[in-house]
Amino acid sequence: MGTVCVTGVASGIGKATAEKLRSIGHSIIGVDLRDADVIADLSTSAGRTAAIEGVTNLAVDGLDGIVPCAGVGGITDGNLVVSLNYFGTMAVVHGLRPLLAESKNSPAVVMISSNSTTNTPGLTAADAQVYLDGDEAAAQAHFAAAGWMAYPAGKLAIAYWVRSACTKAEWIGSGIRLNAVAPGVVDTGMTRPLLDIDFIKDAMDQIPIPVGRWAQPAEIAESISFLLSPAASYILGQTLFVDGGTDVVVQPRSHPHPLG
Ligand code: NAD
Repeated sequence: MGTVCVTGVASGIGKATAEKLRSIGHSIIGVDLRDADVIADLSTSAGRTAAIEGVTNLAVDGLDGIVPCAGVGGITDGNLVVSLNYFGTMAVVHGLRPLLAESKNSPAVVMISSNSTTNTPGLTAADAQVYLDGDEAAAQAHFAAAGWMAYPAGKLAIAYWVRSACTKAEWIGSGIRLNAVAPGVVDTGMTRPLLDIDFIKDAMDQIPIPVGRWAQPAEIAESISFLLSPAASYILGQTLFVDGGTDVVVQPRSHPHPLG
């Protein structure tokens, strides 16, 4: 059992993840704008610093895991999506990494990507690269004319980052496993209000979901809990789609990738 930092802990996937992890004996240090151990706005530089300091102060027994769930949906301000979903997430993960490196308790990070990475027409690797280049202002400028693309591009950047960073000295070289989940549509505070917007509801109704329904937050939490646990000790750099089968409909021949 260990201590896990969960951001976005007040609602949706973060809340369900904290509940699941507590139920199996973990201690949680939650970060959010409200209803959390550490109140901080992760879209700002000052808020990120406060979050890292606050979690560090509370992690008296060390830190063994991070699940950075704080985020906003893609129909909000593109600048906020850039600042919170990607740069806020990265700041927390990098800022708390030294604590994880001291853990003797199978430390791991489970990032939150999305299946919008494979079902958004027009999304390119170049859009994700803008994030990976690490310049927040440049990323905001890049998406200024198409704010809705900031969301899937940031989630693609997270999946790419997990895959490229996981093998490095500061991550698995320090014993820390990096993986991600890519949820499909989950019934949370982020998605419910979208049903009131006709063209978005219509678009969401077009998404093929072989399982036949949206996910409940607890179903995503189960996958996060597994990837975080020693039961996933040999899984590294993967993005696990937890989307009721949408990704396999959209790209049926994606895996495996034959080397020839
Ligand atoms: P949610 O709205 O239920 O929860 C998000 C949480 O983030 C809230 O508690 C909110 O207060 C917090 N938050 C918002 N702005 C913040 C800020 N500036 N600083 C700190 N905390 C802030 O949403 P959710 O659906 O649980 O989303 C969680 C994560 O899952 C997000 O990264 C989202 O992109 C991702 N995701 C969601 C879905 C979905 O369909 N709901 C699908 C794929 C991925």
